[in-house]
Amino acid sequence: MAGPRIEEQPLRIYFIPFLASGHMIPLCDIARFFSSRGHHATIITTPANAQILHPFLSDHFHIHTVPFPSQEVGLPDGIEIMSFANHTNPIKVFEGAMLLRGPMELFVEQNPPDCVVADFIFPWVDDLANKLHIPRFAFNGFPLFAVCAFYSFHANNNPVLDDDDDDSNSSYVIQDFPHHITMKASPPKDLLVVVEELQKTMFKSYGLIVNNFVELDGEEYIQHYEKTTGHKAWHLGPASLIHTTEKEKAERGQKSVVSMHECLRWLDSKKPNSVLYICFGSLCDFPDKQLYEIACGIEASGHGFIWVVSEKTGKEDESEEDKEKWLPKGFEERNKMKGIIIRGWAPQVLILGHVAVGAFLSHCGWNSTMEAVSEGVPMITWPIHSEQFFNEKLISAVRGIGVEVGAQVWNHAMGSRKREKLVGRDQIEKAVRRLMDDGEGEEIRMHAQEFGKKARQAVQQGGSSHNNLTALIDHLKRLRDHKSLHS
Ligand code: UDP
Repeated sequence: MAGPRIEEQPLRIYFIPFLASGHMIPLCDIARFFSSRGHHATIITTPANAQILHPFLSDHFHIHTVPFPSQEVGLPDGIEIMSFANHTNPIKVFEGAMLLRGPMELFVEQNPPDCVVADFIFPWVDDLANKLHIPRFAFNGFPLFAVCAFYSFHANNNPVLDDDDDDSNSSYVIQDFPHHITMKASPPKDLLVVVEELQKTMFKSYGLIVNNFVELDGEEYIQHYEKTTGHKAWHLGPASLIHTTEKEKAERGQKSVVSMHECLRWLDSKKPNSVLYICFGSLCDFPDKQLYEIACGIEASGHGFIWVVSEKTGKEDESEEDKEKWLPKGFEERNKMKGIIIRGWAPQVLILGHVAVGAFLSHCGWNSTMEAVSEGVPMITWPIHSEQFFNEKLISAVRGIGVEVGAQVWNHAMGSRKREKLVGRDQIEKAVRRLMDDGEGEEIRMHAQEFGKKARQAVQQGGSSHNNLTALIDHLKRLRDHKSLHS
C-alpha cells in the first residue's frame, strides 16, 4: 500500500533548549504545541533534565539524551541545570552546556530532522543547520519587545547610565522605539556585549520563535522588528497554556516541594483575589537583608501570601538565630493563618491559576510573566537581571497590567555584577497596597483579566498563536517537500 502523500507526513523537529528552567520549560512546551498537532518533536538534552520531562512523553514527544560533562566542569552528578538550588555554580553549568556541542552535533548529523529550533545561547547550531540544509529557528525566551529594546541599544548606542550612579533621578529614553519608554536602569555592559553577539547569529536564523502572543507584544513591535532587523518572528505562546489539567500544571518543571493537594487545599480556604503570590524565578538569590524587607513589607500590607524562597535560604530545620537573619522574630507564628512560605520549587502555574491569587510579586522573568498574564493575574514588578527591566516596561508602562516596586539595580544573570541596593519595606508595602487594596488596583486587574482572556483565545482554534503555528507548520512542510523534490 502506498504511504501518505509527502505533505501529509508529520514533520520531524529537534528542539535544543538551554540548561536553565527559564529556557527549558517554555521551549519544551512549544515543542508540545507541535507534537499536539501530530508532528514528531524531539528534545535534545541531558539525563537529569530528561527526568523533568518524563511525565509528558508521548508517541510524538521524544527525548534524546547526551551525557552532561559533570567531571570536566567539576560538578557533582545530577546537577545539570541552573537553578537557585545550585546557584553557586551557574557558570559551571554554563560551561558544561557549551561542551554539549560535539555529542549533540553527532546525533543531529546522523539523524537529520526537517527543522531545528535551538536556544540562541547555542549559536553553533547555525553552522550545523547550514551544513544539513535544514531551516534553523532561534529561541531566546524574551518577548519581542525586549529583543527590540536590546536591538535599539546596539543600533543607536543608547546612553548607558553609570554603574555607580545612585541618583534615582537619572533616566534615559529608549531610542527609535514605538513607545516613549523612560528607563531608570541600564543593562550591564557585559550583558549588552553578550546579547549583541548572540542576536547577530540569531538574525541569521530562518526565524525567531517567541513565547508570547501578538496582542501582548503588539503589532507595532512586530512591524518594528521586521523593519529594523529584516528578520521574521513567530509568536506561538503562551507556551504554559499547553497544560490544561491541574496535575499537568503541578508537574511542569522541577519536582515541587509541596503537593498539589496541599497547595489547593490552602488556596481553597481563601477568598478570591486575596492572596499575593511571591516568587523570583529559578535563579534569583536575595541576601538575607532583602528577604527581611520583603517579610516586613508583606506583613505591613496585611494581605495573605504565598512566598517562595530558595531551599538554601529557608531550610525547615534552620536555627532560630539563622532564621531571624531573614525573617522577623515570630513572623511565621503571627502570619500562620494568612500566609505560607514555600522553601524550594513551587507549582507556580497551578498557584497562579487559582482564583484566590490576586497579585504576583515577580522578577518579571518572561515565563513567570506569561504565566501570570495567561491567568489574568496583575503583577508587582521587581526586575533583577537579563531582559527583565524591559519586560517590566511592557507590563506596567505599555499594557497597564502591573505596578512597579521601584527596583533600579540591573544585575547580570550569571552574577558577574552583583550590586545590592535594597528595595525597602515601604516600597513593597506601597506597591502591594496599590494593587490589592480597593481602589486603583481594580482598573489594573481589569486590564490583566482582559489580557488573560486574549492569551487563552490566542492558543485556541482561530486565535493568533494557533494560526501562526498552522502557518509555520505549512511553511515547514513546503520547505521540506521542496527540498525532497530537488535532492
Ligand atoms: N518556576 C516554578 N516554581 C518555582 C520557581 C520557578 O514553577 O518555584 C518556574 C516558573 O513557573 C517559570 C520558570 O520556572 O516557568 C522560571 O522562568 P522565568 O523566565 O520566570 O524566570 P528565570 O528562572 O528564568 O529567572
